[in-house]
Amino acid sequence: MIKIARLISGTRISQDIKNEITEEVKEMKRTKGIVPGLSVILVGDNPASKVYVRSKQKGCEEVGFKSETIRMDKSAPTEDVLKELDRLNNREDIHGILVQLPLPEQIDKAKVLEAIYPEKDVDGFHPVNIGKLVTQQKCLVPATPLGIIEMLKRENIVIKGKNVTVVGHSEIVGKPVSLLLLNEWATVTICHIETRDLKIHTIDADILIVATGVSYLIKGDMVKEGAVVIDVGINRITKDKANQELLEWRKEDFENKGATLIGDVDFLRVEPKASYISPVPGGVGPMTIAMLLSNTLKAAKNIVGMK
Ligand code: NDP
Repeated sequence: MIKIARLISGTRISQDIKNEITEEVKEMKRTKGIVPGLSVILVGDNPASKVYVRSKQKGCEEVGFKSETIRMDKSAPTEDVLKELDRLNNREDIHGILVQLPLPEQIDKAKVLEAIYPEKDVDGFHPVNIGKLVTQQKCLVPATPLGIIEMLKRENIVIKGKNVTVVGHSEIVGKPVSLLLLNEWATVTICHIETRDLKIHTIDADILIVATGVSYLIKGDMVKEGAVVIDVGINRITKDKANQELLEWRKEDFENKGATLIGDVDFLRVEPKASYISPVPGGVGPMTIAMLLSNTLKAAKNIVGMK
C-alpha cells in the first residue's frame, strides 16, 4: 500500500490566522478606536527585499492594519536609519517596526536592530527579545520560527517529549526555533555546516526541521518512517538548472515563469516516508507573513494595555 503524508498547508493555516486577526482588529477599532500600525524601513533596492516588503504591506491591508514603507537610499549612513527609527519609536500610531534585511554593507546592522524599541520589534531580533526568549519571558519572537510552531500546534502534532532535529542554526530560523521547541519540552538536536554526519541526526528525528537554503539536502534515506518534516528552505531553480524529474513535476512553472521554487528536502522521496510534510511553496512561507501580522497585533495590544 502506498502511504501518502498529510500536507501541512501553510496557505490554509495562515488564512485562518489572518481571518482571526481581522476580527480582532475590527473589535479593537470598535472598542478602543485603535488601528495597529506597522512601519517597514527598506534601505536600497534589493529586488528580493522589495518583493518581501510588498507582500508584508499586502498582508497588512488584508487584515485592516495601517502600514507604511519608508524607503531610504542604498548609500544612506547608519545615522540616518537611526534617526528614522527614533522618530518611529516615538510615534503613537506605529506599534510595529521592522528593518528589512539584508542591509547595505556600510550600515551597522547590530546598532540598527538594537535601536528599535523592543516593544515595537515585530521581527523579534532585538537582543532584549532574544534574551527573553531564552529565559521564557513574554516577548516578541521571530516570525518564521513562530510560524513553524503554530503549524505543528494547529495540526495537533505533539512536541513535548519528541526528538526534534533542526538543520541550520541561523539567527532568523534555526536558533530561535530550537529555543521555542526546547520551551515546548522537545529534545532538540541542532545541526550546521560542521556537523560531521547529518544522517545520524536526521534519521532519529520524530520531527525534522530544515532551514539551510541547500536544495535536495535531505534525501529519502535520511528520514525516519512516520516523521513530521518541516521544510523551511526556499530555492529558486531555473529551467537550465533543473533535472528531468523536476522539469516534469513542475512543468507548468517552467512553462509560465521559467523557474520554480523548491525547499531543502527531496520532496518526492521523503513524502512517502513522512506522516506530515510542509510543501514548498505553500508551507512555511505564508506562515511567516501571518505571524508578522500576529506580532504586530500583539505589540499594539501590549502598547495600549489590552490583554
Ligand atoms: P542562513 O544562510 O542564514 O542559514 C543557513 C543555515 O544552514 C546555516 O546555519 C548553515 O550553517 C546551515 N547549512 C548550510 N549548509 C548546510 C549543510 N550542508 N549541512 C548542514 N547545515 C548547513 O539562512 P536562513 O536560516 O536565513 O534561511 C534558510 C533557508 O530558509 C533559506 O532557503 C531561506 O530562503 C529560507 N527562509 C524561508 C523563510 C520562509 O518564510 N519560508 C524565512 C526565512 C528563511 P553554517 O552557518 O554553519 O554555515
